[in-house]
Amino acid sequence: MSQVRVRFAPSPTGFFHIGSARTALFNWLYARHTGGKFILRIEDTDKERNSEAFLKVIFDSMRWLGMDWDEGPEVGGEFGPYFQSQRTELYKAKLQELAAKGRAYEKDGAWWLRLEGARSPAYDDHLKKDYEKVDTVPMVLHDMVRGQVARVEDRDFVIFRSNGEPVFHFVNVVDDIEMQITHVIRGEDHLSNTSKHLELFKAFGAKPPIYGHIPLILKTDGPGKMSKRDKGALIEEYQQRRYLPSAVRNYLCLLGWTPADGKEVLPIEEIIKQFEISAVHQSNARFDERKMSHINAQTLRTLPAAEFATLARPILLETKVIDASVSDARLTEVLGIVQEKVTSLEHLPEFMGFFFTTDFKKDEGALANLTKKGGDPVARVRELLPTLEAAAWTEPALEAAFAAVGAARERKPTDYFAPVRFATSGQGGGAHLLGVLRVLGRDTTLARLKAFIA
Ligand code: GLU
Repeated sequence: MSQVRVRFAPSPTGFFHIGSARTALFNWLYARHTGGKFILRIEDTDKERNSEAFLKVIFDSMRWLGMDWDEGPEVGGEFGPYFQSQRTELYKAKLQELAAKGRAYEKDGAWWLRLEGARSPAYDDHLKKDYEKVDTVPMVLHDMVRGQVARVEDRDFVIFRSNGEPVFHFVNVVDDIEMQITHVIRGEDHLSNTSKHLELFKAFGAKPPIYGHIPLILKTDGPGKMSKRDKGALIEEYQQRRYLPSAVRNYLCLLGWTPADGKEVLPIEEIIKQFEISAVHQSNARFDERKMSHINAQTLRTLPAAEFATLARPILLETKVIDASVSDARLTEVLGIVQEKVTSLEHLPEFMGFFFTTDFKKDEGALANLTKKGGDPVARVRELLPTLEAAAWTEPALEAAFAAVGAARERKPTDYFAPVRFATSGQGGGAHLLGVLRVLGRDTTLARLKAFIA
């Protein structure tokens, strides 16, 4: 079989949302899975609605998500230019080609595609109708996702408007032919265009690509399609909220596809290996922000420590949690106990700020909870303090200290955990407590416990 060539063909008329990202991603995965080529083509024929800013967002978002294109803007390739706005002459020539074959004709200033065996509007004029239904057998389309789909196109349709601009169907097909696209993977909202596209391929005498129409993404609640205005719809949002691009990408893969063994958090190399377009679901996918956030947390945990530190440092500097004097060794030590618990890089400053300042924030809600549950937190800290002061500063020794005081006072050791956590961090939850105390160090811990009692 000849090499797979797929394309992502966005129109830069709005922000890059998860629907577009998922379409791009499925094309990219298919290309990488088959060893084919992934082409980026900008469908910017609608001059009024296109903008440079939107174009930049598309490039940035695709790069952020790691979807590199083999041909297209800023990369080049032998089938360029890859902006439809720069291909006007080609479209005009292609229109002439159809006209010469008798497959395109002009009426009321617009150019129409004459369907094979169809009566043309021109002919129908004297019947006082614009055009008439033609007896056509439905075309059967073998869609990679949907299986057999029957479509009928029974009327001539406009391919060049009276203002001289080609319509979407025309440029889309001309470019798919010229760029030798073998497979078209796109949203189900385009399924209704496919019959027109197949007619155009027929008119040009070109072999159509194989289509795969992927399911819609529904909003979290209710029956509606996810729209650009819904929360969580824009890729930029995840960039700003410091999501890991690999986690966002992993989640997008699951919108309409499930890995064969059901394991959902997996490295991209593994996804590329497993991805089958024929296994894409026919039913609509539903956007689930909690799942996305869960995958983000899971992915964060799997990062090598050095990579986690590289991501964390600029965020902590920017939020002034640390300054440049904090050594790599110290940062890595703190991050080492934080990494398995923090759910997002966005929360990192709040989660670990107390390691680097004595003036840490105290969560009043957590304090109120403590008093409600375990009686007097100050009394607990006071009971524990002498034993901790005598303990060696290792996790097992600290654990033994909690156990000993608990046993002596006929309390669970955990009765002491929450008060000590609050006294040392101001928080009601967080990283593993014994680890926190070890990394805070003996002096800081004891000083904070004493300050709490006072
Ligand atoms: N420019 C079209 C869109 O934005 C592309 C459709 C296609 O992939 O064929 O949806």
